[in-house]
Amino acid sequence: MFPDDCRVCGTRLSGFPPYPVCSPCLSHPEPLSAGTFCVQCYAPFNTEAALDTDGRCRLCRSGITQFDAMYCVGSYDGRLRTLIQLYKYEPMERLGKPLGKFMRTGYPREVKFDAMVPMPIHSKRLRDRGFNQAEKLAEALKDIAPIPLERNWVIRHKNTQKQAGLSGKERRQNVKDAFRVPDPERVREKRILLIDDVLTTGASANACASALKKAGASYVAILALARADRRIGAGPEAAVAVSQFV
Ligand SMILES: [Zn+2]
Ligand SMILES: [Zn+2]
Repeated sequence: MFPDDCRVCGTRLSGFPPYPVCSPCLSHPEPLSAGTFCVQCYAPFNTEAALDTDGRCRLCRSGITQFDAMYCVGSYDGRLRTLIQLYKYEPMERLGKPLGKFMRTGYPREVKFDAMVPMPIHSKRLRDRGFNQAEKLAEALKDIAPIPLERNWVIRHKNTQKQAGLSGKERRQNVKDAFRVPDPERVREKRILLIDDVLTTGASANACASALKKAGASYVAILALARADRRIGAGPEAAVAVSQFV
């Protein structure tokens, strides 16, 4: 039985809703808003000054970003952050349904892809959680996406320590070589949309995209439910805040 209060806002719930969350808290999240975004990794910035003439941020310019484009539904804070944390860490598999519906607004219909690939999790984490959160979100896209969902194109064979609390550089080191493409023939020349729940620094998405690219994928974009916004305050220091983090 669920407790009587909404787990996001604390409002008393009436009846027996399928999730311990009130309906206003399950309304569609606000899009990530910022003055401008990096054209490659979609990192938010306050001003164009953080981007080069091609519209790319320092990280993308330096070649650290391994994926070609990024799409997201909302910002990883407030209500959406709480919902994702309930979904993943409670874990509350049923929330995959309403969260999956949110994913549909982020799906880049104008871009051609050959397949959707959910970000894989290690088999031990899969046993502990009981489901792959990214795979559930990808399943919600099946009836709007004109491409197949491929679950085994890339696997996570290294059970890395949790990324939370690590710096950007440490995160990249932590997930380096964590992903493997079992059959490179399947991904060769393919345009792939990787589906994930949250992009924080992008270290895992980068490592996964890198494995797919090395195996021959021609294009890898990320669609995530939420993207962390690392800007601190307003003004040009926001760009510095992002670069320190990643
Ligand atoms: Zn609520
Ligand atoms: Zn960028």
